[in-house]
Amino acid sequence: MAKINENFTKLPGSYLFSTVARKISEYGAAHSDADIIKMSIGDVTLPLVPSVVDALHKAADEMGVQETFRGYGPEQGYDFLRDAIVKNDYKVRGINITADEIFVSDGAKSDCGNIVDIFAKDNKVAVCDPVYPVYVDTNAMSGRAGDFVGGKWSNLYYMVCNEENGFLPDLPTEKVDMIYLCFPNNPTGMAAPKDYLEKWVGYAKENGSVILFDSAYEAFITDENVPHSIYEIEGAEEVAIEFRSFSKTAGFTGTRCAYTVVPKALTVDGVSLNALWNRRQCTKFNGVSYVIQRAAEAVYSPEGRAQTQANIKYYLENAKIIREALQDIGLTVFGGVNAPYIWAKTPNGMGSWEFFDYILDKTRVATTPGEGFGPSGEGYIRLTAFSSREKTEEAMDRIRKTLK
Ligand SMILES: *Cc1c(COP(=O)(O)O)cnc(C)c1O
Repeated sequence: MAKINENFTKLPGSYLFSTVARKISEYGAAHSDADIIKMSIGDVTLPLVPSVVDALHKAADEMGVQETFRGYGPEQGYDFLRDAIVKNDYKVRGINITADEIFVSDGAKSDCGNIVDIFAKDNKVAVCDPVYPVYVDTNAMSGRAGDFVGGKWSNLYYMVCNEENGFLPDLPTEKVDMIYLCFPNNPTGMAAPKDYLEKWVGYAKENGSVILFDSAYEAFITDENVPHSIYEIEGAEEVAIEFRSFSKTAGFTGTRCAYTVVPKALTVDGVSLNALWNRRQCTKFNGVSYVIQRAAEAVYSPEGRAQTQANIKYYLENAKIIREALQDIGLTVFGGVNAPYIWAKTPNGMGSWEFFDYILDKTRVATTPGEGFGPSGEGYIRLTAFSSREKTEEAMDRIRKTLK
């Protein structure tokens, strides 16, 4: 008789965003006049920029011509894209990452989830609390998280991110082996300065740990002392894997392209993680579509760069509008300067789901309750800057008028 992976049965049922979506649609159904504005969306809304669309068309045409048709490509990505990544994301920052350390993929979510394949079951995993749920759930699925009791996984080490530590978690007080860090952070919108990341690289070296660094939001960084890559820290190539994505950088959430950096200097017990990841990808993955990789390459062209940066600027202006409105009504807010997320403290110790319901009812603005990202998210809500300018302004007008 076949047996299932029992770890899946341990996963808690309803996913945060489906619960939020259900609550919004129930509210909408009960109030036929409700014009709900979603400040909860974790997805971009601006269309692909013209240079990316041109590249898509051109590559699609190539696929229809005998001489330029392409079948299976390299599992690790085409050289034209890996070289463009090395040149534009690393060389310019003085980082010595080479093309054979770059693995192009269909998403940072899949990479963050799949990376657990190359690690043993008995590694101790540290995650931030609150956290992007993918790191937690994929470790639970592969049997590394233990059991889910009282809102927490028994084998995970939770690193609390709160107002006291400025949402930069303290180094663990016990030995941990795999450390997930995401900066600029989703959901808190906070970024990590260089000296802070240096402490983590030091910890990883001392303890033989591996840092899994998610920099999906690096394009939103505005502060000069905030590193865009973990490899800006000396020695990080010996202890860290980095995940990047074109999703938030260039609006590729529906187009799908990302990459993971596994440096050759990164070894565990003398074994190269670059070699293991390469083996894993070659076995389980057949590469990203040629057309999509040409589109990603176009993000690095001078026009592509200018056009995508204009979109990032647009979202960051939305973030500023949100921050100011929430501060005006007396809320304490974090994030939104180096990230498209604003993390707001609920007033008078209100619960995050309670405040979510309250704002929805009073203003018909939907947010995301912080508690959904982990126990320490209780007492906060997340707003995103991914809506249109018009809707962002309208939502903030309502909040100002109704909640002051
Ligand atoms: C959006 C996001 C990603 C990107 O995921 P893709 O699969 O590349 O779209 C990665 N990490 C975090 C924390 C995110 O919020």
